[in-house]
Amino acid sequence: MPPTQESDGEIASADTYPPTTDVGMADLPLSLDATSLPGLINPPGGVPQANTALPGLGALGGFGTQLLSAIPGQSTIYATEPLTEDLTIVGAPQVTLDVTSNADQTTLFLSVWEVSSGQPVLPRRLVAPVQADVTPGESTEITVALPMATWQVDAGSRLQVVVSATDSAFASPDETRVDQIAVTDAGLTVPTAPAPAEAAPGWFNAESRGVAIALALVLLVIGVFVWRSRHQPAAFDAEIADVPLVVSGLTKSYPDGHKAVQDVTWRAERGQVVGLLGPNGAGKTTTLRMVMGLIAPNDGTVHVLGHQVSAGSPVLGRVGALVEGPGFLPHLTGLQNLHALWAATGRPVEEAHFEQALDAAALSDSVHRPVKSYSQGMRQRLGIAAAMLGMPEVLILDEPTNGLDPPQIAAMRPMLQDYAATGRTVIVSSHLLAEVEMTCSHVVVMHAGKVLATGSVAEIGVEEGRSWKTSSSRPSRALLAIPVSTR
Ligand code: ATP
Repeated sequence: MPPTQESDGEIASADTYPPTTDVGMADLPLSLDATSLPGLINPPGGVPQANTALPGLGALGGFGTQLLSAIPGQSTIYATEPLTEDLTIVGAPQVTLDVTSNADQTTLFLSVWEVSSGQPVLPRRLVAPVQADVTPGESTEITVALPMATWQVDAGSRLQVVVSATDSAFASPDETRVDQIAVTDAGLTVPTAPAPAEAAPGWFNAESRGVAIALALVLLVIGVFVWRSRHQPAAFDAEIADVPLVVSGLTKSYPDGHKAVQDVTWRAERGQVVGLLGPNGAGKTTTLRMVMGLIAPNDGTVHVLGHQVSAGSPVLGRVGALVEGPGFLPHLTGLQNLHALWAATGRPVEEAHFEQALDAAALSDSVHRPVKSYSQGMRQRLGIAAAMLGMPEVLILDEPTNGLDPPQIAAMRPMLQDYAATGRTVIVSSHLLAEVEMTCSHVVVMHAGKVLATGSVAEIGVEEGRSWKTSSSRPSRALLAIPVSTR
């Protein structure tokens, strides 16, 4: 029975969905990309693997014209010429490969990328996995339906078909395999929608056009309202526009009912290194996650330079953070990871200040080695460098000394102090009292989700040499006795 839709008593029906009469097919010739070779190697166990998407960032895209998600030797790229007109893709593009393998079965992962202004993006973040029986040493034709998607490609952009031997989202065979890949002359076949003027002449008359314009205006007004409410003044407090960070009455309960943070209030001024000090479970990380808009508080507010923070607030572009450990792509070098992270911000490369960030990381030549060969301390330092990219006005580091050896910890202290001395603000969390005393100008003491005291390190006089590393230990009597008036 054909699909039907009922509307105001009228029934519209179609024999197929989408209606085949409206969908055309465009054949786009493909040729091997200049940066690519037709041979593919599947490494034993499929490791390392191509990464099509980064958790939290989505599709990785490229640095310049280089596709970072494609591992050289494990991926081959075929590209169209720049499109001469806009193209609306409305379904699964198709490509036919000639595969010659040294094995009797091949496993491949195909994706279609759009390259616009030299930057490759994977609009739907989808990969088509393919497994096919082949005769070793002989060419086999394999037709692949690529991931189905609907998207508009502008004239001037190119489409790239990336064929990879591995993909991090899938398991790959354990045997080493070598495939030679060629694309047949049919190129990339793309289902397309016709231009709007040809689309629906019957029903798109003057009356319905009027309704559509009115609807579009209503949507525009709603859109502007939503955009303003997200980006604009309602949550802006001019009185604290010059204060880097104000945390006010923050409270957070997790779904299991545990109250991790209760009525936490403090602020950080320009030029300060503020230590968030407390034992394991004090609520430091939970507080910093709320500061970064990573989780929403049940109550209270966070303001950065006067702007109230919520998930994805634009003002977070002025904050650099290392919260809950760094995440990097293992097969890329430290430097390539930094470039990829900066590329994801979409900001000009000259604003990144890579040199200062690399100085802070002090990784010397190791910055050109793949991150998978780094020690924990090296990853931690690269994470600090990533947080410093763009020299943000507020730098937030959650337990930055984790994994660092004593000389590295000692080297970090003046680095953070110098950073704050430029008029910026540094916030570090720690369970080490002595560390906070040596590094920080100010301290916020937390215990069991509450702020016990805030003030300058000199005022509070933390005890040298004490540590709250174990969750069973309690803050010292001296700290518990800190007068509430210092808050
Ligand atoms: P640490 O130094 O160990 O990281 P912390 O001061 O950063 O400690 P948080 O990680 O903020 O402390 O944890 C505060 C409390 O909230 C702890 O009791 C912790 O067990 C709890 N907690 C943290 N995350 C969750 C979660 N997702 N679900 C439930 N409880 C959580």
